[in-house]
Order: sequence, then C-alpha cells, then structure tokens
Amino acid sequence: MVKAIVGACWGDEGKGKITDMLGQEADIIVRFQGGSNAGHTIINEYGKFALHLLPSGVFYKHTTSIIGNGVALNIPYLFKEIKSLVDRGVPMPNIKVSDRAQIMMPYHILFDQYEEERLGGKSFGSTKSGIAPFYSDKYAKIGFQVSELFDEELLKDKIARVCEMKNVILEHLYHKPAIDPNELFNTLMEYKRVVEPYVCDVSAYLYDAIKAGKNILLEGQLGALKDPDFGIYPMVTSSSTLAAYGAIGAGIPAAEIKDVIAVVKAYSSAVGAGEFVSEIFGEEADELRRRGGDGGEYGATTGRPRRMGWVDMVASRYGCRMQGATEVALTVLDVLGYLDVIPVCIGYEINGEVTKDFPTTVKLAKAKPVYVELPGWKQEIRGIREYKDLPENCRKYIEFIEKELEVPITMVSNGPGRDEIIRR
Ligand code: GDP
Repeated sequence: MVKAIVGACWGDEGKGKITDMLGQEADIIVRFQGGSNAGHTIINEYGKFALHLLPSGVFYKHTTSIIGNGVALNIPYLFKEIKSLVDRGVPMPNIKVSDRAQIMMPYHILFDQYEEERLGGKSFGSTKSGIAPFYSDKYAKIGFQVSELFDEELLKDKIARVCEMKNVILEHLYHKPAIDPNELFNTLMEYKRVVEPYVCDVSAYLYDAIKAGKNILLEGQLGALKDPDFGIYPMVTSSSTLAAYGAIGAGIPAAEIKDVIAVVKAYSSAVGAGEFVSEIFGEEADELRRRGGDGGEYGATTGRPRRMGWVDMVASRYGCRMQGATEVALTVLDVLGYLDVIPVCIGYEINGEVTKDFPTTVKLAKAKPVYVELPGWKQEIRGIREYKDLPENCRKYIEFIEKELEVPITMVSNGPGRDEIIRR
C-alpha cells in the first residue's frame, strides 16, 4: 500500500510531523522530489530536528529511508544530516539512495547564488541550495546520475564537456572563477566513496516491497502552489510537488498510490516571493507569526520570517484537487485559539468579479481576498484527543473548511508533538 503525504499550499504545512507520525506504521519512507532547500521540523523523544534531505521516518529503527531518483541529491549535505542525527543519539538509520538520483554539483549552488545576485531586486528569493540550476541541467541532459560515478573514464569526459560550457558562463556572465575539471573529478570521487554503501536500484526494491505488501509513504516537499506547472509560476520550485509525481520520483507505477493525504494549515504561511492573496501584514501578521508553528513561523532552512495570512479556501481547495487528495490533515489549529473572530478567504475578486477557482499567475496578481468571519473559540485546545471534546466553534471552523475543501478532514493536528493528533 502506497500513501503520499503532500502539501496543499505553499509548503510548511506540517508534512514532516504527519509523516513522522504515520511512520510508526510504515516500512519504507521515500523522498521523491526537491532537495535540501526546504525543511521539515520534527519533535520526538530524541529532541527537535530540522530535516532537509532525509525523509521524516529516519527516527524509527523499523523503517527504510529512501532518497528517490526525483531528488536533488546533495551528497555532503546528506552525510552531514545523518551525522547530526547520530551525534544526538538517533540510531543509525537504514538509508537507500537511488542509483538514478542526480547529484547536486558544487557549481549548481554557486550558480544559484550568482544568478540571485545578478537579478538583484528581481530575484526569486531562492534558498540558494542550487535547486534551479540542478533541475535545469537534469532536463538539459548535462546532469550527473549517481550511477555515472562508477565509470571513471566516461565521467572524466563528461566533466570536461560540461566544464567547458559552465566556464564560459562563469567568465562572461558572472565574472567568477572557472571550474577546474580535475578538482571536480576529485570531488566526485569523494562523493562516490561516501555514497557507495547506500546506492540501490530503488525502483526494483520498491517493486518487490509493493508485491510483499509493505507500507510505503511518499513524502512531498513544499506544496501544490510551488509546483512548476500548477503553482504560482515563476515563483515556484523546479521539481513537481504533486503526489502524481511521487510515482515518477520514487520509481513506482502511478496506480499504486492509493491514498493521498493533503496537509492543510489552519492559517496560511509562505516563504519566498510570489502571489499570496490572503496575506496579512503589520501587527496582525506579527502576532500570528509569533504564535504560529512551534515557537514561531520562521523557515526551517533559512530562518527567514514566513509571510503570514488567513486560511485560503480558493488556494487550498485547488491544492487538494491538484494533489488528488483522498483525505486532509488539518494542522496547527491550536495556534488560532487567541482570536475573537477568524477570517477565512472564500473567494477572489478579480476585476470586480468574484471567483472560487484558483487562476493563473497573471490574474492572481489582481486578486483581492473575499472573507467571511467565523467566531473564535478562545481557548487552549492542546491536549484534547477526541473530536467531540473540541469547543463547538472550533468544530464549526473545521467543518466549514472541510465543506469548502470538498475532501474529508480525517486528522486534526493540535500541537507539534507526534501524538498531538485527533483522528476523525
Ligand atoms: P513541513 O515542511 O510541511 O513539514 O512543515 P514545517 O516543519 O516547515 O513547519 C511546520 C511547523 O509547525 C513545525 O515547526 C512543526 O513543529 C509545527 N507543527 C506541525 N503541526 C503542528 C500543530 O498542529 N500545532 C503546532 N502548534 N505546531 C505544529
């Protein structure tokens, strides 16, 4: 049985917590896209962790953690991350890395920085982890698969060809030092040494696991609105964030994904630039940011303050639809207990007309939020474990959102901890 856990909006919905929680019953957890550019925050018996590249199941002894072919594999980062867990008492996780995953090259990270510098005020607000240059090269067919590390002659030839091209851009566009092909080869040999024990034909491994009836979780990064096709292009990420891509990025048949859990936040937050219709500002935003998440809404990778807003039904319903959500986990509901009334965005006004459909970016830029206000519940709801024990206004808020999303809310998260969950 394969389940995907994915974000309905801009990311940071709390997928890490839901994956970590469902990991208790999983055999295998797979990252299928993205790289070390976003983070998941997880709180468990070992402490508080920000994971970037490893799947959120790495804390369990019984799970296998997989870096799928769709991921941007930053090898030094991966090993730094493993070490940081083991140093804090987490048992050495069982990790497999797809032989078809492509390698984040040192120059991808540099190009990301140089390009953001060049664009200045018009930059994408990249986390400068090399993601866009990495995926550009993958699709331009000049990327390096893990498997290519194992044929040194072919590798040398390819490095020479790629460096020739990269060095022209470095010299003439960015005015930066050139790449030395020999040095790059030595770096890749070092990468090979560290990654070799984990390299695996992941699609074959998962094929057998599916046949054996194993429980497999696909863990998405970011959310539907950051998808390059269906998100707020061009302020998106460079790999598909949709559950459908989970099949490709992990290497399994599409029809095997039986359950898609879209994670929706009880309010909105976003990092980086891009359209965000229900965004709020000033003291109202500061207060929500301070109270939000676990100890405030600041990026797990960059520490940047997240942009804040009210829950957006137009964006979230669209996100659930594009994810193909079969169920929804509604998170961080506990954060809203301080509000007298809670605005919920139910439509976008564009050129004087109200729509409930999420538009393309050009129109989105003109959209103004249409709100309804629901009464708050004005109490702490952490510690509650049964749906019926939630305050009435809180249940009404959940049920209103569920109706708007058109997908059943099966889980309500009322705290960052692994067991802070109400199942419906
Ligand atoms: P992800 O990338 O989707 O996994 O999300 P992040 O980990 O970046 O952000 C979610 C943040 O909210 C983390 O700090 C979590 O510990 C925290 N969190 C998750 N669920 C809840 C919840 O129900 N209540 C509260 N207060 N915090 C939560």
